[in-house]
Amino acid sequence: MEFEPVIGLEVHAQLKTKTKIFCACSTAFGAPPNTHTCPVCLGMPGVLPVLNKKVVEYTLRMALATHCKIERESRFARKNYFYPDLPKGYQISQYELPIARTGFVDTEINGCTCRIGINRIHMEEDAGKLDHDPDRPVSRVDFNRTGVPLIEIVSEPDIRSPEAAGAYLRHLRSLARYLGICDGNLEEGSFRCDANVSIRPQGSETFGTRTELKNLNSFKHVEKALLYEINRQKEIMREGGQVVQETRLWDPAKNRTTSMRSKEEAHDYRYFPDPDLLPLLIDDAWIEAVRQSLPELPDAKRQRFIQQYGLPPYDAGILTSDRQLAAYFEDCARAFPQPKQISNWIMGALLGQLNVQGKTIETSTISALHLAQLLELVDRGVISGKIAKTVFEEMAQSGQPPRKIVEEKGMVQITDDRAIEEVVTKVIESCPQEVAAYQKGKAKLLGFFVGQVMQATRGKANPQLVNEILKKKLNG
Ligand code: ADP
Ligand code: MG
Ligand code: ZN
Repeated sequence: MEFEPVIGLEVHAQLKTKTKIFCACSTAFGAPPNTHTCPVCLGMPGVLPVLNKKVVEYTLRMALATHCKIERESRFARKNYFYPDLPKGYQISQYELPIARTGFVDTEINGCTCRIGINRIHMEEDAGKLDHDPDRPVSRVDFNRTGVPLIEIVSEPDIRSPEAAGAYLRHLRSLARYLGICDGNLEEGSFRCDANVSIRPQGSETFGTRTELKNLNSFKHVEKALLYEINRQKEIMREGGQVVQETRLWDPAKNRTTSMRSKEEAHDYRYFPDPDLLPLLIDDAWIEAVRQSLPELPDAKRQRFIQQYGLPPYDAGILTSDRQLAAYFEDCARAFPQPKQISNWIMGALLGQLNVQGKTIETSTISALHLAQLLELVDRGVISGKIAKTVFEEMAQSGQPPRKIVEEKGMVQITDDRAIEEVVTKVIESCPQEVAAYQKGKAKLLGFFVGQVMQATRGKANPQLVNEILKKKLNG
C-alpha cells in the first residue's frame, strides 16, 4: 500500500522589539545572565504586565503578510506549568482568542505553487534559559530571555513532503526578515519549529494519528527528522501496527527520533484568561496603517523581477529570497543593465564567495557598484571572462575596485591583432609535430594551440581573436 505524509508546522519567531512583551527590560542578546530582568519578568507578586504596542504591530505585519483575518478582539491567557525557567509558574500566551486566524502562504515547491493554510498566529512570551554545568550536577538559570516576545504561526496540515516543509519554513523566514520583525536564525533559536506528522493511505480523506517532533534546529534537521519519522510510521503500518500519538525528540547525532512523552503524559496546562491583562482591541485604522507600512514582499518582488528584468523564475526566486540580496541585485542592474549577467555572477561567484568567507550580502567586501564595474570591463572587452574570475577573487580579498586591480596587475586583455599574431607565430614554430598532425586532419589540436597562446599571454589574449588568428595561420 502507498502512503501519503501529512505535515503541519508550529513555528515560533522571536520578535526583534527593543523591549520585552510586558515590561521595559531590554531584549538584547548576549548580556550577562539576569541583568535584563525586573519584578515583572521575574514574576514577583503584586506587579502588573503592560502590553508592548510594538509587539502587536509586528504581529499584525506577519498576519497581514500571510493573508490572515485579524481579530478585532483577542485575549491573553495563562498557560500553567512548573519549570525552573518559568518564574511565574505560567506562560502568558494567547489561547482561545488569538490575534489572527485563517491565512495562507503560497510556496514554490519544485516549480509548482502550493498553498499552505495558516490556522492561527498568536503572541506569547518566551521562557528563560537553563545552563547545565557539564562537570557537576548543577544548572543555572538565566531570566534575560523571560518575557521576550514570540509569535507562534500554526499551519494547517497542508504540507505533503519534507521538502515542502523546508520550502514553507524558508518562505516564512524570508517573510519575517522582509518585515523586519525577526532575525530568522534557526541555529540560534530566534526561529524555531515543531513538526507534526502523520501518514495515511494514498487517496484517503481522513488523517492518521500524528506525532510531534521537537529539537529541530536547522532546516536540514527539519527535513531529515520528517523523512525518518515518515519511514518509521510507514514501517509500523506495514507491519499492521498502530502509530501512537506522542512527542518525539530528534537526535541529530544518531539520525533518529526517540519518544519523549506520550499523550497520557501530556501536560494539562489549565489555561484561563489572564485577569491582569485587558482584552486587546484592534481597530480598522490601526490595521490599515500597518498594511500601508508593509514593504514589497518576496512574492511580489519575485514577479516584478521576472517581468522588469526578464529573469527566469528560478533566478528571481533566489534573488528575492532575501531583501538585501534583492537590493544588491537592483543596485547592480542600475549601474550595468544586463540583468541575466548580473544574476549569473551573484548566484554563482558571489554567493559562493560569501559562503566561503562566512559573510552575508550586507558585509560583502564586493560592493554592488564594484561588481557592476567588473561586468562592464568584461562587456567592453577590457578583460576576458577568465581574467574576470581572478579579478573577482582579488576584489573579495581586498575590496578594491576592479579597475584598480586590473591596472595594477597589468591584466588588461590583449586585443591587438599584431601582438597576438606574434605569440601565435612563436607557438606554431615551437610545436612542429603538433602543427603537422593538425594539418593532417587532427582538428582537436586547435584547443591545444589556444591553450599554449593563453599560457604565453598569461590568459590575457582575447580568446576569440586567438581562435581566428590560429585558424588563419594553421590553415593558410
Ligand atoms: P495541539 O493543540 O496539540 O498543538 P493543534 O490542533 O494545534 O494541536 O495542531 C498542531 C499542529 O499539528 C498544526 O500545525 C496542525 O496542522 C498539525 N496537525 C494536526 N493534525 C495533524 C495530523 N493528523 N497530521 C499531521 N499534522 C497534524
Ligand atoms: Mg500546538
Ligand atoms: Zn522585565
